Amino acid sequence: MRYQHIFGPVPSRRLGISLGIDPIPFKTCTYNCVYCECGATTNLTTDREEYIPVKVIIAELKDYLDANPKLDYITFSGSGEPTLNTGIEEIIDFLKENYPQYKIAVLTNGSLLYQKEVRDEIIRADLVMPSLDAVSAQAFRRINRAYIGLEIQKIISGLIEFRKEFKGKIWLEIFIVPGINDTDSEMKLLREAIMKINPTHVQINSLDRPGTENWVKPINSVSLKKVVSYFKDLPVEMITNFKSREKIASFNHNIEDKIITTIKRRPCTAEDLSETLGIHINEINKYLQALLERERIESMYLKRGVFFKTTKDNN
Ligand code: SF4
Repeated sequence: MRYQHIFGPVPSRRLGISLGIDPIPFKTCTYNCVYCECGATTNLTTDREEYIPVKVIIAELKDYLDANPKLDYITFSGSGEPTLNTGIEEIIDFLKENYPQYKIAVLTNGSLLYQKEVRDEIIRADLVMPSLDAVSAQAFRRINRAYIGLEIQKIISGLIEFRKEFKGKIWLEIFIVPGINDTDSEMKLLREAIMKINPTHVQINSLDRPGTENWVKPINSVSLKKVVSYFKDLPVEMITNFKSREKIASFNHNIEDKIITTIKRRPCTAEDLSETLGIHINEINKYLQALLERERIESMYLKRGVFFKTTKDNN
């Protein structure tokens, strides 16, 4: 069976061996984040629908999981916002009833959790990983560029409500965009919001491969110091400190080789690679990251987006 809506398992630094479920079409999202590694959002929306039919996703999951693969997590993620699919609860129920040995994670931007029905639909997950990059309306607008009408205070209230109702783990992710959300005032606001949300962990992330906008830079030592001092008494971890992907059991050197061979012929975007190799863009992104870290490839911004090519030593 050729899978269209499940992918991997991917070597995830946070989740180990993780099978991905992408329940929405490419770049259908409530946000258009400046750092998104999948490129600009093409369908900016808050409309919830059964974008990909549940029965199609369940058929793929059944086919894959009946072989009893070794996995740490089954993760709703993808190139957009997974809670936009109204079938998410049915898929979680299916997994819990038929494959209870697997833990379920939901990677979400958290923007729809102010809706009670969305909170209820993901309540049976084991781990929810929402993001919160800003608290002030201005920083939120500059970083996340949300669908009109989505207000950050409403989103934070949704996260607070969800924490009260949800029994599993919440790992809250903050993506630092130097110059925007690393100011003293924003750090203070973020700290206050975190205290109210009370997540199990806070994970600090920063650019580790090119984002949608080329002015977004990785965290620098000044920002890092500030983040550490503001959050030092909170359960915070830096994502960059996680173990390298190559050490994760599902790391597949064949995929790396295929990427290198393809971009040696001509520079490609992540989307080009995904189409050419028939591998989900999220999986491609993990391998691009590992190759960038080892300086086997490099990136460049062109009109059509971020392109990857081999470094001189790998030509
Ligand atoms: S980073 Fe996530 S929330 Fe932001 S635009 Fe990309 S898919 Fe959407």
